[in-house]
Formats: sequence, C-alpha cells, structure tokens
Amino acid sequence: MDKILVGISSCLLGQEVRYDGAHKYHSYIERTLGQYFQFRPFCPEVEAGLGVPRPAVQLRESGGHVRVVGVKDHSLDVTEALTAAATRQHDWPAGLCGYILKKDSPSCGMERVKVYRNDIPVRNGAGVFAEYLMRQFPTLPVEEEGRLGDPGLRENFIQRVFVRCRWQQLCEQPLTAHRLMTFHSRHKLIAMSHDQNRVRELGRLLATLTPENLEAVAQQYITELMACLKIVATRGNHVNVLQHIQGYLKLKLDGDDKQELVETIERYRSGHVPLIVPLTLLKHHFRRQPDPFIDASYYLSPHPAELALLNDI
Ligand code: SF4
Repeated sequence: MDKILVGISSCLLGQEVRYDGAHKYHSYIERTLGQYFQFRPFCPEVEAGLGVPRPAVQLRESGGHVRVVGVKDHSLDVTEALTAAATRQHDWPAGLCGYILKKDSPSCGMERVKVYRNDIPVRNGAGVFAEYLMRQFPTLPVEEEGRLGDPGLRENFIQRVFVRCRWQQLCEQPLTAHRLMTFHSRHKLIAMSHDQNRVRELGRLLATLTPENLEAVAQQYITELMACLKIVATRGNHVNVLQHIQGYLKLKLDGDDKQELVETIERYRSGHVPLIVPLTLLKHHFRRQPDPFIDASYYLSPHPAELALLNDI
C-alpha cells in the first residue's frame, strides 16, 4: 500500500525551524505513523519570511482584533505576513488525507492557544495557519500532536485519515451512484459507532440520489460523514454496533459460541476488555461463517492492526 499523504508542522519532524532554532521532534509520529503516512512538512512562520532564529510571537487582542505580535516587542506585528503565507497554501492541502499541527503555536495551534488580553492569557485562540487550514478544508482531518497522546483522540484521527484516503481513491475514478452507495455501505458501521442519528441522516441524503445530483450529493455526503466521524466514538455506540453485527451470526453459531460472544461484548461494555477483544472474536466467527456485508465493512479492521489503536481500555 502506498503511504498516505499527511501534512505536518515541520518542527514535529525534527526540522530546526522554531523561533529559537530548535525543533519539537515527535518520535511516535515519525517512527510509528511514518510507517503508514508520508509527511508533507510546512512551517508557516518560515514561509512568511520571519527567519530562523526569530523573535517569539504570541496572539494578542487589541481593539477587538487578535493580532500576532512579538512577545517582547508588541510593536512587531506579523499578522499580515502570516495571513498571506497561510492563504498562499490554497492548493496542496486539498491533496492531503490529514494534518498534524503543533499545539500552542500562534501559527499552528489548532485550539486553546493563549490569547493575551491586557497581559492576561485566555486559552481560546487558534493559530493563523491552523484557522485558515480548517476553514478552507473543512473535511480534512486535523489534529494536534499533544492530543495524539489520548488513545481515543488518536484512534479517532487516524481512522478519519484512512477514511479520507479511501474517499480520495474513490474519487480517482469516475463517480457512480453504485460506487457511492458501496462506499457508504462499507463505512456505515464505523459511522454508527460515532453517531447513529447522523448515519440515519446520511441514509436519507443518499435516498435522494439521482443522476443529476450525484456530484452535489457526494460532496454533501463526504462533508457530513467526516463531521460524523469527528465525534469520538463511545463505548455505548460500539456496543450497539457489536450487537448489530452479532445479529448476522444468530443462525450460524451454536449455543456455547453465542454465549461466549454475548459475554465478551458485555465484558467490553463494562470496561474489562478493550474493543479489540470482541472484534477479534467476531473476525474469527466471520472467517468461518462469511457474510458479504460484514466482510466488506471496514468496522472490524478500520486501520492496520500493528498500530494497536483499539487495544486500550
Ligand atoms: S510555525 Fe508551526 S511549524 Fe513553524 S516552528 Fe512554529 S509550530 Fe513549528
């Protein structure tokens, strides 16, 4: 499999581009995710011509507007230079399947970046480039390196990257209603683990498909699917999906196997085993009792098992 193209703040790959000439190398990203992702590094402050080293900058509210100014010298205002550097990037991010940003940066921070008001920091800002990226490419999975330390957020982000990659592969060929419906069918159980109401809305949207509105519906579909997947999947929703899948085995398992499956899902529900345990048992049963819908679904194997993203309780 070709590696998936993912954008990243350059300093996270070890490039010495920070204001002080240092980097913020992140080994999990480079060594583990790098086995599956090909990174496209970008430093907005270097692109803006601020140089290395350079004065450190911060977000500061002034006259109702948030500006990017020097930490020591507030008269140094690089807002326009950074905004221009960000808006020049209107092309290549469209080809990405995800983006990993450096947290807390007035350029790259995705959220909760400090904004100074009368020298009092309030954590409710976003970096200039990050804000542009998320506004311009709303279906692009974006995450901060700090949040990748949380197992749920990490799995959520990586799952979205793989879904977007499969969507891009779909779009490389002429789109047809059949291919769109097949894509939905293969991702339906994953989406159900995030938000079952939104899955029903996706179904209603696809029911309106006609040859004339195919492109428009497809665009709305991927926008709403990616918004659905952004909602972190819950244990309760996973239990519903597992029980739904269990229904496909109702007439195929003997009493002991059924009981084992019920107990395994219950042990997952009560937090005694991670999701990978019931998924592995289900995969075992579907290897012996194949089902076309379940076999085609990505739910049982949403991303490479080697990443062990479903192994946390
Ligand atoms: S602007 Fe972004 S990529 Fe450049 S050093 Fe700061 S956080 Fe890293």
